[in-house]
Amino acid sequence: MSPRTYDVRTFGCQMNVHDSERIAGLLEQAGYVKADGAQTPDVVVFNTCAVRENADNRLYGNLGHLLPTKKANPGMQIAVGGCLAQKDRGTIVERAPWVDVVFGTHNVGSLPVLLERARIEQESQVELLEALEVFPSTLPARRESAYRAWVSISVGCNNTCTFCIVPSLRGKERDRRPGDILREVHALVDDGVIEITLLGQNVNSYGAEFGDKAAFAKLLRACGDIDGLERVRFTSPHPRDFTDDVIDAMAETPNVMPSLHMPLQSGSDRVLKAMRRSYRADRYLGILDRVRAAMPDAAITTDVIVGFPGETDDDFARTLDVVRAARFAGAFTFQYSKRPGTPAADLPDQVPADAVAHRYRQLVELVDDIAWTENKTLLGAAVEVLVAEGEGRKDGATHRLSGRARDNRLVHLAACDAVPGDVATARVTYAAPHHLVADDVLAVRRRTARESVPVQAAGVFVGMPSFADRC
Ligand code: SF4
Repeated sequence: MSPRTYDVRTFGCQMNVHDSERIAGLLEQAGYVKADGAQTPDVVVFNTCAVRENADNRLYGNLGHLLPTKKANPGMQIAVGGCLAQKDRGTIVERAPWVDVVFGTHNVGSLPVLLERARIEQESQVELLEALEVFPSTLPARRESAYRAWVSISVGCNNTCTFCIVPSLRGKERDRRPGDILREVHALVDDGVIEITLLGQNVNSYGAEFGDKAAFAKLLRACGDIDGLERVRFTSPHPRDFTDDVIDAMAETPNVMPSLHMPLQSGSDRVLKAMRRSYRADRYLGILDRVRAAMPDAAITTDVIVGFPGETDDDFARTLDVVRAARFAGAFTFQYSKRPGTPAADLPDQVPADAVAHRYRQLVELVDDIAWTENKTLLGAAVEVLVAEGEGRKDGATHRLSGRARDNRLVHLAACDAVPGDVATARVTYAAPHHLVADDVLAVRRRTARESVPVQAAGVFVGMPSFADRC
């Protein structure tokens, strides 16, 4: 009998991408194989996000779309996990009774058992826990990349930002022990990974649970001691907890990349207070100054929310002022909209949609203008690009390979014999607001070719050669 096939469909942030790799790894360990594009999968898993606007409509739309396929394939199963499943609890199977399994953010590891139970009992299974069972990082994984990996250092968040639903869905911050994290990084590097991204809702509070405020800086430095690990990144930092020892560790650890994605959210102190973001614009800009003093080539990106309840024209002007002063290399910009279940949803003075949209356009124009100017300063410079899977692009007849520079800028390379996982050095020949083109390839450092991505089970490899917005 051929093995049952699966497809995982991911919505939302890096945390969900990371969880989806674990979901895929768990299913493969249980004997499932990934469905190829042409196949109707035996199991479809939706890893949902509750942060985005209309997340519910999108989920139920997708589920409705799948109903005829499921009717035509009676053995097919549908599972729904992630933040929306945690938030909506049992109501998913009431609204979509053809869903076989609903699991939450705290019990990803239960999925294979729940699928099996639903099949045997011919009944929907709903299992949602209030607290984390095991760190997702200790579960097997099927990584999307052979060369880059996410490494979770903490889950949950102790902050209470009024626009964010994460704390109520992911719980209080739980920190993994440094030894566990470093063991995982070593195992990944042994398997060919050269770039890791340390992942937590607030990496700068890492260590609070076990009483070591310097734990994150120490972790960065420890990653610097790992032979073969060429690139270390992290997300998301929080300006409140961002300390100078982390800046020193970044600057003094050669494999920690000169890039920082630090959410601003608003440049108005009044709005930051209403958001319960316990830093102010001066502190934010002060951190950036110190980062740039220590790492002059650092590219700094951010998240900004426009139209938070009560935001005035003057507040918005302050955001524009901070954006100008910060000279971001890029920004994820969001138009505020009410998210059910968050404190901000009940605040008075919701800003009219047309005013939000108008401010948003001004912000995007400014961000793009600055990013383009910053990118143009790199014309003629040599950049080192880790060639990535799946980020290529077609320019007319030219198929370009693409990847990320050390500062995390997206770079499209001239056609050359590099393959994903190689490190190419190339001179920048064109700059756009959101990417660079490097047509003058100077060198390619070849790495061992791999055919497919390994399945890793808690440090043991069971398959062979073969990846807040809100914080
Ligand atoms: S926005 Fe980030 S820091 Fe704030 S509550 Fe949400 S997860 Fe925590």
